Amino acid sequence: MDPVTPLTPAAVELVALTKRYAQGAPAVDNINLRIASGSYCCLLGPSGCGKSTTLRMIAGHETVTSGDILLENRNITTLPAAARGTAMMFQSFALFPHLSALDNVAFSLKMKGVDKTTRHKQAQDLLERVAMGHLAQRKPGELSGGQQQRVALARALITQPRVLLLDEPLSALDPFLRIQMRAELRRWQKELGLTFIHVTHSQEEAMALADTMVVMNQGLIEQVGSPHEVYNTPATEFIARFMGGHNVINTGAGKIAVRNDHMLIAPAEPTAPATGIGGMGATITDVEYQGTYVLLGLDASTATGPTGVSVMLPEAKFAERPYALGESVHLSWHAAHALRA
Ligand code: ADP
Ligand code: MG
Repeated sequence: MDPVTPLTPAAVELVALTKRYAQGAPAVDNINLRIASGSYCCLLGPSGCGKSTTLRMIAGHETVTSGDILLENRNITTLPAAARGTAMMFQSFALFPHLSALDNVAFSLKMKGVDKTTRHKQAQDLLERVAMGHLAQRKPGELSGGQQQRVALARALITQPRVLLLDEPLSALDPFLRIQMRAELRRWQKELGLTFIHVTHSQEEAMALADTMVVMNQGLIEQVGSPHEVYNTPATEFIARFMGGHNVINTGAGKIAVRNDHMLIAPAEPTAPATGIGGMGATITDVEYQGTYVLLGLDASTATGPTGVSVMLPEAKFAERPYALGESVHLSWHAAHALRA
């Protein structure tokens, strides 16, 4: 990189950050990461990979074993949570049910001893900012899920954080509300221009929200990139499997990963399609209709024995030539679609 080109300012930088609990492997193992200012960053990975520990260390809710945390070039590693310039939004918003929206938002100022007039004025301003000013006197039970989320956002913002930290904020919601709420989160992040660091175990959620995805596995960062980069060029076999949509196949000459919508399928006879490179025999084990697509499950004969693979076919294509359970087929792919895993 050209040394005179200024880097995008990193809102948050983690340097050789490590967390070791009393027993076992480190929960977070010497990770390095720069999160650009004003970006939506998702920490993604399976349960137990160290996402929440990383977030809690950034928030100041967990001590660091070694390494450093910088926020806008200030070393905040040992600062108390309230002095860091970060704020946390908790799972399913966790509002106080007996307080009005206004008093929920003003709560942390009350704890700091700010007088009532001042704290109510600031809370009202923030509620206006998230289009909730007119509902300031309502209690959480009298608000919709979306309105509650906005109150929770205003409550987190009253300390004027530079970075908002969110730990699985949508996981307790029903699927419909979850999709609605994540669209709102994304919109507010862009409107407010703040840096969001959002922990999730859902690939779909991270893909929908993130400017930058940080994929973690066993305390390590395996890949950092845009959703497009991570999905289309998974850096490791773990990521190819975890992101879904990819088949990891041992061809005898090494492992490759092929997206399931890039797989070519043909009846077993007479021969493999001329367009395909590579290929193998397989048996249909599952046919699942998914609206505009049909997802086929197959048992394929690979160099190392039978392997489960999936093929995503457009519904119209499937209608032209439906495949039946137990049917023998031939699978292949274009060389350009086979990533080295
Ligand atoms: P995630 O949020 O990705 O599911 P966590 O960061 O909560 O994962 O946990 C990472 C690892 O650290 C896990 O193995 C977990 O059991 C362990 N861990 C988390 N918190 C503690 C704790 N307070 N004491 C001991 N081990 C912990
Ligand atoms: Mg967690």
